[in-house]
Amino acid sequence: MEKINYSEEKTKFKAIFFDFGGTLMDTESDNFAHLAMMKDIIHKFKLTIPVEDLVAKYNSLIFTKEMTLLDPDPLVQCFNPLRESTKKAFIRLLSEFRITPSSEDFSWFEKIYLKRHLEFIKLFPETFTLINWIRKNPSLHLGIISDIDHDYMDFQFKALGIRDLFDSITTSEEVKAYKPKKQIFQTALYKAGCKGKEAIIIGDSYTKDIQGGKKMLMTTIWINKFQAKNNLESKDEADYTVHHLKEVLPILQQLLK
Ligand SMILES: [Mg+2]
Repeated sequence: MEKINYSEEKTKFKAIFFDFGGTLMDTESDNFAHLAMMKDIIHKFKLTIPVEDLVAKYNSLIFTKEMTLLDPDPLVQCFNPLRESTKKAFIRLLSEFRITPSSEDFSWFEKIYLKRHLEFIKLFPETFTLINWIRKNPSLHLGIISDIDHDYMDFQFKALGIRDLFDSITTSEEVKAYKPKKQIFQTALYKAGCKGKEAIIIGDSYTKDIQGGKKMLMTTIWINKFQAKNNLESKDEADYTVHHLKEVLPILQQLLK
């Protein structure tokens, strides 16, 4: 556990927010879902391409610029839900093989998308330990802030059996903005009925979760799984930096005692 910038001043925390993908949900399981989907596509459309190559193509199409912040264009103000990017990625993938999908193909892909994600998506095992510990304190608001579509989040949470464990779920689709834009954090804080300085955010994306949370004066816990050096010139803004979800509980115990 690396303590970076913690003020000794005691804060009464009222809410804890988690990111979902890569924080509570194992990113590798999402990769397995994509791999299975691409195998389905290869089989259905009789494509001759290694499945790993098709996954790479699909991933490069699905994660849009505004979502990944790889090359954000400040002039682009519109918001596209993940569902639209998924559909576009399917069309562009097939167009490389000179195939134009029919409406039946779209319905088939939607079903495959849900089926494979349901089949493969897994939570990190520490998720339940953390949630159970937080839920012992009924006055704490427990929320999710995620760059995802609302219906997908709802169906995935129900399938994982965790929907009722959270007081609020705030999605990018709901507020029409991806993290680190302020709107998504403001909406989550409004649901929790507290100010940013009374909340903790835990996430694996430095740019989205940590910088976004800091702008709202939240206390930030960065799960830097790949031990990536943030490439920003400013100093590290995370209050706490860890490398694994299992390191989060001792920090919460310290912050909330
Ligand atoms: Mg994440």
